Amino acid sequence: MHTLLLSASDPITPPTAANLIMNGQLVAIPTETVYGLGANGLDEEAVARIFEAKGRPQDNPLILHISGPEQMELFCHHIPQKAYDLAEKFWPGPLTIVLPARDIVPKRTTGGLSTVAVRCPDNAVTREIIRLSGVPIAAPSANISGKPSTTTAEHVLHDHDGKIAAVVDGGPCRVGVESTIVDLTEKRPRLLRPGGIGPEELIAVLGDLVVDKAVTAQIDKDEVVKAPGMKYRHYAPSEPVVIVSGSREAAARYIHAHFEPGDRVLCFEEELPLYAGCDPLSYGQEADVNTLSAGLFAALRELDDPKIHQVYARCPVGGGVAYAVQNRLKKAAAFHIVDAEAEL
Ligand code: AMP
Ligand code: MG
Repeated sequence: MHTLLLSASDPITPPTAANLIMNGQLVAIPTETVYGLGANGLDEEAVARIFEAKGRPQDNPLILHISGPEQMELFCHHIPQKAYDLAEKFWPGPLTIVLPARDIVPKRTTGGLSTVAVRCPDNAVTREIIRLSGVPIAAPSANISGKPSTTTAEHVLHDHDGKIAAVVDGGPCRVGVESTIVDLTEKRPRLLRPGGIGPEELIAVLGDLVVDKAVTAQIDKDEVVKAPGMKYRHYAPSEPVVIVSGSREAAARYIHAHFEPGDRVLCFEEELPLYAGCDPLSYGQEADVNTLSAGLFAALRELDDPKIHQVYARCPVGGGVAYAVQNRLKKAAAFHIVDAEAEL
């Protein structure tokens, strides 16, 4: 199959992409979070192609991308006022809401669950593609399952060239980490995955938030969890990653004491001079956490190289989107963290 590369700024792109979606094809779409591998979310066969292309476990549900909050009611029922409040405040934007699913949503899309995740992305071209196709677009991140997510059209082509119908190139993703996921199907709202909307911002609207265990700890693969996707190895380059926490100086001392040829250092731009001779790679500035979220997956993909033995990674502290960066790095490191201050 020849994979079309469609420019988001070309007026022919939305109708072309929408036609492919209506025909059951796979189209990678840009969003403000990451690139998604999209298909008609109401068509079981189209959705099956997403799982096949990604090598994604069948029980890992997909997010339905909708063109506006009014579409929530088409695919969800028993929608609490809190869902409307969140949609009003954060849509279009990097927030996914889990609600009871209507029967029209195939079980293949929901990974067999009776709930469905919905989101309205902050990308006008992608919303136009959804609107023109007349169906919600089911789209997980467009990476091969388990690998770092895709934040450019080049990343998508690297993983899927020749296997999907088209990629819509909308440039690098602004946020760079996947959406925040909130489950509103229980008494208390539950954070299933941190993302572009920080927990503090959610609490300001919801007044309450339980953080799911899958956010903070490694989940056993046989455990039953609310967000099935969270139990799988995720975001990881091929070699082991270890997070080195603590002050800049303590971390540099620890890393220099343990660094061996073939290792790499993933750090903040401000730290590059500390690791001269260790082939450091920066993923953004510690002083501007948005650059870290935007740069994280491109850096992890660059480090996905069998010649590398081990990666020592530096991780930002704090809330907001830094909380999501911590979560992705911890997952990439399988929660392997050393405290450089304690090791001295
Ligand atoms: P991805 O789009 O690749 O980031 O994956 C989508 C994420 O949304 C996965 O981690 C899923 O587990 C989660 N998700 C999707 N639908 C649901 C749902 N109905 N309940 C809980 N989590 C969901
Ligand atoms: Mg993913």
